[in-house]
Parts: sequence; C-alpha cells; structure tokens
Amino acid sequence: MKAITLHGTGDVRVESVPDARVVDPTDVVVRITTSAVCGSDLHQYHGRVPGLPKGVVMGHEFMGVVEAVGSEVRTLRQGDRVIAPFSISCGFCDWCRMRLPTQCSTTGRAVFGGRFGAQYPGGQAEAIRVPFADHMCEKVPEGMADEEAFFLGDILSTGYCCAENAGIRPGDTVAVLGAGPVGLFALQSAHLFGPSRVFVVDRVDYRLELAEELGGIPVNLDRGDPGEQLRALTGGRGPDAVLECVGHETPFAQAILAVRAGGTVSSVGVYVEPSIGFPVREAFFKDLSLKMGICNARNYIVPLMPLIQAGKLRPTRIITHTLSLDEAPRGYAIFDRKEDRAIKVMLKP
Ligand code: NAD
Ligand code: ZN
Repeated sequence: MKAITLHGTGDVRVESVPDARVVDPTDVVVRITTSAVCGSDLHQYHGRVPGLPKGVVMGHEFMGVVEAVGSEVRTLRQGDRVIAPFSISCGFCDWCRMRLPTQCSTTGRAVFGGRFGAQYPGGQAEAIRVPFADHMCEKVPEGMADEEAFFLGDILSTGYCCAENAGIRPGDTVAVLGAGPVGLFALQSAHLFGPSRVFVVDRVDYRLELAEELGGIPVNLDRGDPGEQLRALTGGRGPDAVLECVGHETPFAQAILAVRAGGTVSSVGVYVEPSIGFPVREAFFKDLSLKMGICNARNYIVPLMPLIQAGKLRPTRIITHTLSLDEAPRGYAIFDRKEDRAIKVMLKP
C-alpha cells in the first residue's frame, strides 16, 4: 500500500510499504478516508526526535472505514466508519482505568507513527492497523462529514483540554500562544468558558487573521515582547490564563512571564527535549498554577462530538489544503514553512 515515510530531516517520501493487516485478534484494519499533517509531525520532520526508525510510516491523525476485523473484536463490523485517538491504549490497564490512556502500560505510552512506527505504523497511508479496536475506535454518526469529526482524535481535543485545564471563569482574560491548528482550537474552546477577551499571539499574519475571524484579538510577536503587550492590554496585570500551544522553551517562558500573579498557565505544546530553561523564580513569586501534558484525547471524543454537531466548535474552518498522498511532501513543506497560507493540511489517499 501507499504511505508517507520519513527518512531524515525534511525528507518525507511517498513509498510502497507492506499492507496493514490484523496481527492480534483485538485489531481492526481501517481503510483510511482522511488523514492530516500535525504540528507534532513537524518535531520529527525537523530532526528533533532521536531514535526514529528510518522509513517509519508517519501520521497519527486519521479516520476511515473498518475493512478487516480480528476474531476477538466485539463492537465493530466491516464497513463501520470510525475515528481513533492519536495515542494507543488498551482500555484495561490501571492507567487506562484511571482515565489516563496516554500512560497505557500495555502499549508503553505508544503513539501511531513516529517513534513507535516500527510497532504501530502511522495513518498517512491507505490503511492502518488499529490495536485494541473495541476501546480505541469510536463510530462516527451518519451524516457527519469526515472533516467535522476528524480533529477529535487529536488537535481539537488537545485545544479543548488546554482551555479546560486553564480553569477559565466567566469574564477572565485569556491569551493563547500560537495560532497554529492547536492554538486556533484552544481559542474556539476558550470561548465556551465565557471569557471577556481572548488574545492570540503569533507572528504569522494570515494565522492571526483567522484567529481574529474566530473571535480572538491578535497580538503580533514581532511588535514587541508578548508579556509587555499583554500587560498593556489587561490594565497592567497580564491575562488570567495563558494557553501555551507552541512547544518550545521560548513560548513556555513567555507564558510564565505573561500570566498575571495567581493566574494559570496551561501548556500543551510538545517538548521533545528532556529539559528546558524555566523562569522558576517568576513562577514562584507569582503564585501561578501550571498544568501541562499530552492530551488524553480518547476521553474527549464522545463529549465534544455534540459541540461540533451544535456548531459551537467549528473544526473545518482551519482546513486550508486537501492534498492527495502523492502531494504529502509538498504538504509538509508548506505547513512547515507557513507558505501558501497553510494552516491545516489534510491528506486523502
Ligand atoms: P504549528 O507549528 O502549526 O503551530 C505553532 C504556531 O506557533 C505557529 O503558527 C508559529 O508561528 C507560532 N509560534 C512560534 N513561536 C511562538 C511564540 N514564541 N509565541 C507565540 N506563537 C509562536 O503546530 P500545531 O499543529 O498548532 O501544534 C502546536 C503544538 O501543539 C506543537 O508543539 C504540537 O506538537 C503540540 N501538540 C500537542 C498535543 C498534546 O497532546 N499535548 C497534541 C497535538 C499537538
Ligand atoms: Zn498530533
């Protein structure tokens, strides 16, 4: 089958790889109808993730139709349209029972594609093996377009959990760092908690334009220190909550420096380095709360679905490109370099 593989920094290829197949009796094979390139794929594309197997099949955002069903799968049938979260969990270990499926001890905190790709090839392909299928797969309601349901498996759930973790209360001021796909979903989600104003910080004009259309107040990084700009906009105090949606040392520090005393920093940007610098004295004397982490997207698929159906979350608005698998290398390049006004690049096998 056809798949997108990574061979080194900036080197993704369209290749023929072995067909996805049922390995364990609890697996299904999903024929992929839609996949996408994620900001997390870029960390690998940039060579920031050591120990990647060469030629790994990329991608952890996908959905499709069940094509083959293992003998112990009980709730799924051939032809079911399903979505799955980016991280692979069994549903029965202690961590899964604590509703922390990203910590699953059975799979060793595995994610599709990337570092775990030898065991669990990714979804930028024509088909994918989904382990623990009864637990992992959620059926998509008839009449709901792929693009409406799709982002529940990763970035919509991540943006929502970033806003939820920030403890936003009605009337609060909020700043989102990063107007990429995750930041734009954090912005949409923050509005559900009733803030008075949501600022969105980035330096890419066309992304800030979309943030503004979605009800954010744009703040351009290149016009000065973001903390200073945000303080000037919030009566000198700083926002009550800062939602970090970038994933580097600089924006993490900026989030801590920008939030008001007693406020909350919620960070979902992925840190691939084992440690980074941290303005700990500022954090301490500010009395701030910090919540960070990988998103347990499995927990959000069901509760967020009705918010999409009711039009309170509008996932399709961030899609700027829909390309074929053959065009994926260009998709990676424009998403990475922020060319051609790229925000979210979808891939159709
Ligand atoms: P992206 O690269 O498209 O978006 C990042 C945006 O941040 C870009 O628009 C960039 O211009 C902007 N930016 C860079 N430096 C900045 C700064 N100092 N201040 C403000 N903005 C800045 O990626 P994305 O798809 O939106 O993903 C964002 C992050 O979320 C990535 O680190 C990704 O790995 C992570 N992520 C985490 C989870 C999770 O489970 N926690 C899930 C999905 C993605
Ligand atoms: Zn992702």
